Amino acid sequence: MSDFVYSQKPIQIESGDGLDLTDSAGTDYLDFGASYACVPLGHGHEAVGAAAVDQLSALTYVQASYPVAVRDRLYGTLAGAAPDGIDNVWLCNSGTEAVEAALKFARAATGNTKIVSTMQAFHGRTMGALATTWKSTYKSPYEPLMPGVEFVPYNDSEAITEAVDDDTAAVILEPIQGEGGINPASAEFMTAAREATEEAGAALVCDEIQTGLGRTGELWACERAGVVPDMVTSAKGLANGLPIGATLCRDWIAEGYGDHASTFGGNPVVAAAAEATVSALQEESIPAHADEMGTYLREALEAELGDSVRDIRGDGLMVGVEVKGNAGAVARELAMDHRVLVLTAGRTVVRLLPPLVATEAEIDRAVDALGTVVG
Ligand SMILES: *Cc1c(COP(=O)(O)O)cnc(C)c1O
Repeated sequence: MSDFVYSQKPIQIESGDGLDLTDSAGTDYLDFGASYACVPLGHGHEAVGAAAVDQLSALTYVQASYPVAVRDRLYGTLAGAAPDGIDNVWLCNSGTEAVEAALKFARAATGNTKIVSTMQAFHGRTMGALATTWKSTYKSPYEPLMPGVEFVPYNDSEAITEAVDDDTAAVILEPIQGEGGINPASAEFMTAAREATEEAGAALVCDEIQTGLGRTGELWACERAGVVPDMVTSAKGLANGLPIGATLCRDWIAEGYGDHASTFGGNPVVAAAAEATVSALQEESIPAHADEMGTYLREALEAELGDSVRDIRGDGLMVGVEVKGNAGAVARELAMDHRVLVLTAGRTVVRLLPPLVATEAEIDRAVDALGTVVG
């Protein structure tokens, strides 16, 4: 939800259970944005909480030069969960750090510096990641940023093929742009990016910080498009609400990655929570559930909203509803009058990213509310 919403009426959330959030007055809200996709298993997930608490009492932290069993298990789990051909895992504490690492690794492994990104992209707010982010209001107060970034129109296969050359270290893209308005990449665009990078010896980085971990109906959205990149970045929901980031990469990247480290990356408590999260996602077949519920959600939205909105798009439980008015105003009314919390993406897109454990009844409630507000 935008600050605009909060500024109208601050909601002080005190507890959470599944999709429900409860404020200080005891009022329940339906969290249909999963608090920025950070709780794929819902709030207060028991196994994740227990894993973190147990690890907190056993060992909160030890310098990363000593192996810790739970972190080693997470390395194995993530390497196993990564797309085929990607076997290496580097851990940090946030999404932007995972992107920062990917940019550094690509530079070190290729010896090149040029980065190709896409218009409307969002990749984070530290100096390197910010340079690959599109929106000028995020960037202009902090310039000059990292040089050498070229932006091509999203879904323009010809432009991306042309932009990738012998000086290119990496192409970075989101398989579905999140912050940029829920814009899905075409299979043709993903394939063009893969072919161009492969030919030039550059790295293809899929930023799956928002699309990953089952949200689009597969563990990774790039798998949906049939493309295996050289690196995948993950964060947001990876430890179901605790801070973590991961850069997953192929051998040729790991072999030339340079010298990069993070003191708290892979700390035992967060590693335990992430291990429990990814295990639950896999054991409970959450991606398949997200696929099924995503179809249910989009069909329900189409039936309920029809011509009263401009567009409904996305995949799995990553859905954008482009409204005719102001998305922030819609989000505010949903929160205040219907107790349904959603996100926005730009001025006109209502962004729906519910926890992946959402049920048909919870989806019905959100769709009914949206129908009342914009229908
Ligand atoms: C949120 C996000 C980031 C940045 O993650 P932080 O943890 O906020 O640094 C990067 N890329 C994408 C696609 C995101 O959605």
